[in-house]
Amino acid sequence: MTVSSPAAPTGCPACGVIAVGRGRRRRVLHDVPSVTRVRIVWRQRVWRCTDDACSKKTFVEQLPSMVAARGSITQRTTAWAVGQLRREHATVHGLARQLGTSWKTVWRAIEPELVRLAADESRFENVTTLGVDEHVWHHVDSRKRGPKELTGMVDLTRDAKGRTRARLLDLVPGRSGAVYKVWLDERGDAFREGVKIAALDPFAGYKTAIDDKLQDAVAVLDAFHVVKLGTAAVDEVRRRVQQDTLGHRGRKGDPLYGIQTILRAGEENLTDKQSARLHAAVEADPAHDEVFVAWQCAQLLRSAYHQKNLADGRRIAQRVVDTFPTCPIPEIARLGRTLRRWKDAFLAYFTTGRSSNGGTEAVNGIIELHRRLARGFRNRENYRLRMLLAAGGLTP
Ligand SMILES: [Zn+2]
Repeated sequence: MTVSSPAAPTGCPACGVIAVGRGRRRRVLHDVPSVTRVRIVWRQRVWRCTDDACSKKTFVEQLPSMVAARGSITQRTTAWAVGQLRREHATVHGLARQLGTSWKTVWRAIEPELVRLAADESRFENVTTLGVDEHVWHHVDSRKRGPKELTGMVDLTRDAKGRTRARLLDLVPGRSGAVYKVWLDERGDAFREGVKIAALDPFAGYKTAIDDKLQDAVAVLDAFHVVKLGTAAVDEVRRRVQQDTLGHRGRKGDPLYGIQTILRAGEENLTDKQSARLHAAVEADPAHDEVFVAWQCAQLLRSAYHQKNLADGRRIAQRVVDTFPTCPIPEIARLGRTLRRWKDAFLAYFTTGRSSNGGTEAVNGIIELHRRLARGFRNRENYRLRMLLAAGGLTP
């Protein structure tokens, strides 16, 4: 498609004297694909300043609403590409292919837009429930790529209808209370005073940061992490029993090995077939009873969060704190001691109107999906921008 601007008097950008036309220049731009690739051929005007004393001599027309000064991708294509990354799980490589250009060209067009959105502090407004979580973002030498762990701040605030729309607010390198503290400091007083509930995993560093920086907030153990502790304990019991009964780690064909994913699921989600497999594996050896009991403990813990009535949930949670620490299964006893140590934050979930159930998990899922789609990331800042975009952090 060939385009040109209507003729109009133009002043020299240096001196303001009306310039004279010096013809046009063809500039080819990538545009949003429609059935096939689309190219915009812009007949860009060239002007000459008529003031001989002016330093400008000649200059070319600019239409910033169509394309950036040295860009090769139209502005609407940049907006389209950002939308594709945000909502359609697109990859920069895939977009480059559709546009018939390189990864670098696409990223160069998108990056400034993402940087601009990320720098806009208004995206932190109205956060009343704040979560914190960490993940490993690469597996190469940390001397080359920096810390493997990133701490992520998640907005778990409910909307007017009471739904949580979890948004990833930020990612900072490292995992410590100090990183969280610094980040909270950077957000300013208004932000910190606005946070009423601070969700966290049972990591003492975060708790100290919350106590120091968010004095008005109630600390709540994140439901997702508590349930995860339960499933991790079951997994440990399964591996230990497997080792004790077979003398080796589980392998294909071993009864307990075959049910490891079933053990991680919620009881109510199991199909009849899965249920039958679980029971068959348990009955295969009397020593497997221990696995079954551990599984029931984890299910009990999980059920606290699935009660319709929060008071019922709290009663179950209280029972967990009271009974797990003396459980004869060491892994469950250890889980019980952890929860007893975190009792206030664990029980606070049930008195703060369910601060969040799947928010942290949902954000983790999006992060994992996008990391896989991109086949890993090398640059931490690009990773941060892409994850913020995908997980809603750049949308106020
Ligand atoms: Zn001039």
